[in-house]
Amino acid sequence: MQGEAAAPLRAWVEYFRDLGVHDFYRFGEPVTLAASEAESCSAIESMAEDEAPFADQASPKQPSSNTIFVPPVHLISFNDLAPMPTAVIPPAERETALRAIHEQIGDCTRCPLAYAGRHKIVFGDGSPTARLMFVGEGPGADEDAQGLPFVGKAGQLLNNMIAAMGLTRAEVYIANIVKCRPPGNRVPEPVEANTCSQFLLGQIDVVQPEAIVALGSTSATYLLGVKQSLSSLRGRWHRCRGAKLAVTYHPAFLLRDPRQKAEAWKDLQMVMRELGLTPPAPKNT
Ligand code: SF4
Repeated sequence: MQGEAAAPLRAWVEYFRDLGVHDFYRFGEPVTLAASEAESCSAIESMAEDEAPFADQASPKQPSSNTIFVPPVHLISFNDLAPMPTAVIPPAERETALRAIHEQIGDCTRCPLAYAGRHKIVFGDGSPTARLMFVGEGPGADEDAQGLPFVGKAGQLLNNMIAAMGLTRAEVYIANIVKCRPPGNRVPEPVEANTCSQFLLGQIDVVQPEAIVALGSTSATYLLGVKQSLSSLRGRWHRCRGAKLAVTYHPAFLLRDPRQKAEAWKDLQMVMRELGLTPPAPKNT
């Protein structure tokens, strides 16, 4: 299956990928995507997006369900990847410490993503003294071109989410599990994520945020060292490198399924309560 004919199947796979399902096996007759998609789309379009302050995107296509089996995968959480730092890096030295990690990465060829068409290594962006860090999956096409995380459509939505929390993008820190774009925006392979994790771990240990928000299931999987559905990880606190860690949907998923923005907003409100943040006052019109 190629070209436009493959688009519905690709959307279907990406939808479940965002929900934390990465492995697919087909049994019996193939799924008829066209009919189920039309049904799902009309259902989605008839639903409100509730009260998420960043709920302003177009309606998505939502795939149908199918029988899915997820084999167990052995993972190591960031807590166990390396000993915890014994000292806090003074705020004034964190920018230099981050620059040292960036220089250590260099023109990295440590994993196969170096040879998969990447243009720029996307290190990270934001305040070295941020109280809040967002961790996504990996760069997309826009990020690969600009060398910055979350600068495409999903990045714009993340900016809106940050603003809704009463923060600016410059006040938080943003990074990804892998720093090079996986071809076709596929999920990073374990060897890629595990190889690149050392650098993200270093960034977290330098910034030492009070809270981390894992954006999407791939981020949560590698940060926490567990492979569970996003729904089972959301709504409660986890621990990562001394920080409290919350899990929510990846902005790219929210663009595909805006109904979930209200749920993501609940996740962000949990973080806001923890950090004592208040939403910005409504603008007078
Ligand atoms: S993804 Fe990470 S480990 Fe792999 S080549 Fe890029 S920077 Fe290096």
